[in-house]
Order: sequence, then structure tokens, then C-alpha cells
Amino acid sequence: MGIAVPSSRWGRVGRRLIESLLLIGAVFGARTSGADGVRVVATLPDLGAIAREVVGDAGTVTVLSVASEDPHFVDPRPTLLVPLSRADLLIVNGMELEVGWLPPMLVNARNPAIQPGGLGYFDASTAVARLEVPKGPVARSEGDVHAQGNPHFAYEPRSGAAVAMALAARLARLDPAHAAGYVARAKALKDALLAFATDERARFAAIAPSRRTLVSYHQSLTYLEHWLGLTRVATIEPLPGIPPSPKHVATVLSLMKASPAVVVQEEYRPRATSERLAQLTSTQLVVIPGGARDGEAYLERLRRTTEALHAAMVK
Ligand SMILES: [Zn+2]
Repeated sequence: MGIAVPSSRWGRVGRRLIESLLLIGAVFGARTSGADGVRVVATLPDLGAIAREVVGDAGTVTVLSVASEDPHFVDPRPTLLVPLSRADLLIVNGMELEVGWLPPMLVNARNPAIQPGGLGYFDASTAVARLEVPKGPVARSEGDVHAQGNPHFAYEPRSGAAVAMALAARLARLDPAHAAGYVARAKALKDALLAFATDERARFAAIAPSRRTLVSYHQSLTYLEHWLGLTRVATIEPLPGIPPSPKHVATVLSLMKASPAVVVQEEYRPRATSERLAQLTSTQLVVIPGGARDGEAYLERLRRTTEALHAAMVK
């Protein structure tokens, strides 16, 4: 299995763990030839939904988090180590979205197949056109969680299509016997996503630009705004990941009074400030999905998001 020998500071406990994993490996045999096919783990529900469509019946997909969790701050439950320790392929969002919780789990899972840089580690952000990438150094000490650019590309179907195609190419290398199926399913998903992207852009273009305006809680709608031609008036968080101060909320309120806008946030964010701002400006709070629900198709999750936004903007 090629597991690296642990450093001495790991000591006896670490060595025993490695020996146990080696034994498991010996019992269950080669990783990519298991009875269930290729074992894929995705960090986030949207990536899991895309992976399920691309993998099809050629393997299994396990997702480490749920749509009601903030992807920046997933609870690193020890039970998640089990699928990680057995995975053939790990799909991460990248651009540091999981930097607060995934790296220690990757160490503790002790699975050399899915370490960064290897064939079994797929960084979805490498497939997409990245937005809001800082030109200079970002002061992480200020708490900005978007120091590598905006990581929330899964809100946008063209990015999802690019991820599906790149994922199929990676799966084809990992599991060549099923390559044609991976590519065909990814292509079908891509076609459906691109058709949806075109249709929805046209539908939103029919709304007056002065009504295609929003205030988002977190700076997570950038890709969606570009896609649908929406204008962001303000964000309730002063910087990504920083809770709003009363002074900042007052600034947002004055901006909303000058440029009316709906308030948008994911299901997992605190609602009190958003509700107050919506109330004070007689607008709506639109609560959008944090990701695909368990078993939900990626396209349906996107459709739920645009339906909620469209309904609020035409009201
Ligand atoms: Zn973010």
C-alpha cells in the first residue's frame, strides 16, 4: 500500500494504527478493484452531487458535510475518518474553502492515495475560472477567509460543468475500465447545466436592472451574480468570515436605502441581522440552499436557488 513510515514523534500508537490499516488493506485487497467499484469522497454536498452523476454505477460517493453546514467551518467528526481512510479519490473544493477543517483529517486518515498532489486528490477549483483572486498579499490576521480568491463557484452551473468534465478525466485515469461511462455521464450533465445557464440568464435579463440587486450576508454569490447579471449593493459581513459590527450594519442600511435590494443568505447563517435589514427597507429576505440536499441532483439545487431569487426580484 506504500504507507509512509511514521516519524518517531508518532510513537507506538501511530505505528499500531498504521499496522491496523495495513492489515485492513491486506484483507480488503487493492483499492480500485473493490466489489463496489471506485470509492469517492467529496468534502461538500454540491461536489458530492456532481460526483454522483459522473460516477454513476461505477462506484460510491460519500460526502463529508451537509447543506446546513457552513463549508468554511465543517465539524471534523472522527467518524469522517472512516470513508477518508478507504477512499480512492478525494474531491475538494479548493481555494482554501476547507482549510479550517480538512488538513488535520487528511493527516489522521493516513490514506496515501488521497494526499494533495496525488492522482487520488482532485481540487475542483483547478477546473474553473476563479474570481476575486487577490492581486497582492491578503492580511489573514484580519480573518478574511477568501485569501485565495472567492471559493464559492459551485453556485454557478458553468463552473459545475467544468468540474464535472475535469472529474471525469481524473476518474478515467484512476479507473480506465470505466472511462467511457465517466466521460459520457459528465458530458450529459455539462450539456444540461449549460442549457440551464443560458435559459436562466435570459430569464433574469427580463427583470429591470434596478431590481436585479441584492445584499448578501457572506460574499458567496459572486459567481452567481456574474452569471445572472445581478448587482451586489453590499455584504452584511464586512469581510468574508467577519461578523458584522453595528457600524457596518448601519452602512449597509444606508446603502440599501439608496439602492433597494433583496437580502440573500444561505440556510446555515444567522438570520437576525438579515431580517432586521429586510424589515427596515421593506424588502425580502431570501434564504437559499447551502448546497444540494442529501440525494438531490446538482441542477435541482441550482434551480431551487434561482427560483427563490427570481420570485423575490419580480415581486
Ligand atoms: Zn466564503
